[in-house]
Amino acid sequence: MTTARPAPKPLMALDDALAQLLGHATALVGQEQVSTFDADGRVLAQDLVSQLQVPPQDNSSMDGYALRCADLADLADLTQSLPVSQRIPAGSAGAPLKPGTVARIFTGAPIPSGADAVVMQEDCDVLADGSVRVKTRPELGQWIRRAGEDVTRGAVVLQQGQRLTPAALGMAASIGMDVLSVARRPRVALFSTGDELVMPGTVAPQDMPPGAIYNSNRFFLRALLIRLGCEVTDLGIVPDQRDATIDALRGAAEHHDVILTSGGVSVGEEDHIKPAVQSLGHLDLWQIAIKPGKPFAYGRVAKAHVIGLPGNPVSSFVTFLLLVRPFLLKLQGVPDVAAKPIAMTAHFSWPKADRRREFLRVKRDGAGGLDLFANQSSGVLTSAVWGDGLVDNPPGCLIAPGDVVRFIPFSELLA
Ligand code: AMP
Ligand code: MG
Repeated sequence: MTTARPAPKPLMALDDALAQLLGHATALVGQEQVSTFDADGRVLAQDLVSQLQVPPQDNSSMDGYALRCADLADLADLTQSLPVSQRIPAGSAGAPLKPGTVARIFTGAPIPSGADAVVMQEDCDVLADGSVRVKTRPELGQWIRRAGEDVTRGAVVLQQGQRLTPAALGMAASIGMDVLSVARRPRVALFSTGDELVMPGTVAPQDMPPGAIYNSNRFFLRALLIRLGCEVTDLGIVPDQRDATIDALRGAAEHHDVILTSGGVSVGEEDHIKPAVQSLGHLDLWQIAIKPGKPFAYGRVAKAHVIGLPGNPVSSFVTFLLLVRPFLLKLQGVPDVAAKPIAMTAHFSWPKADRRREFLRVKRDGAGGLDLFANQSSGVLTSAVWGDGLVDNPPGCLIAPGDVVRFIPFSELLA
């Protein structure tokens, strides 16, 4: 007698998996006040509205002379000179410009009232009596940076949900913000499963027992979480045992928003994540139609989200970037979490189509195209180190040299 095996679950499209996952990512309650100095990478929890205009007043963008263009028109010719009536360095306000004179002015200094152009010093001769001869006729408004040309008063310069970049920190400072209200950091507990795993530093390479491998996922997952603004509790390696897995999950659920695991999400007897989570809460094990990274788990234990990544290092890495990264950003209130692929030319061929959507590790070459890492196995982490991004290849698609493909740079996914 043969027992019928359950029919394999249909694979889920990545977009559906992402939509479902993001549906669970309600923004964390709570904000934090941080110094603008320390806010790089954090997510703004308020709109920043400017109370002033930037620049605050018209100012010179050159070292030179501020003048009234009409005064030059009154001169018979440009061989005549105008006296210097005042000196305005940056940081001081000048007096109204006396008709028929010029003001010595420096970059960033306010334009005195009455002046309507700046002539750079290279275009002037200073005569023995100190007066200035302008060598080229200025255009109205030249070398003047207008008040408010960067920011107008009342403008929203940065929006709630925006992730702060170094340029954004500068912008916040330019409108006088020394403290910013940002989303609190997600608290994430991280653990790896697998009895074969050994922590670097505990066993020397030459002493590794048969079947043992170093735990690599722990290192990149921890680094990725920190880059995304998370507060990480690293719980290390949990043995492949149901009870140990349950204990780790129960303890972590108390004080964390997210529990992230790697390995043990398949359905073999040594895969304990699914039954352990189910004994404490609930969990869906998804078979996502992507390569690498098919098995992926989402569930909850008490209030904590549980995300189970596959153990194979490249699968773990890629599913983190495609699914966990947007999830963590949305928890912090970022509304637009989709990566933006770039159209690029393949300088390689990919002759075997797969029914799953593939994320190939590639590198930009010097000729405006992409090269492929030769070994695309999900265990070969070298591909992710060598590569500088992923080609998002739709199911069933072959790639020939010259084809336009969708490229997602790691620089975007790792930021
Ligand atoms: P699993 O998902 O637990 O079945 O693991 C799949 C493969 O990934 C196995 O070859 C594991 O040895 C490997 N693996 C699992 N976890 C890690 C890890 N933390 N670091 C490196 N390799 C791992
Ligand atoms: Mg395992």
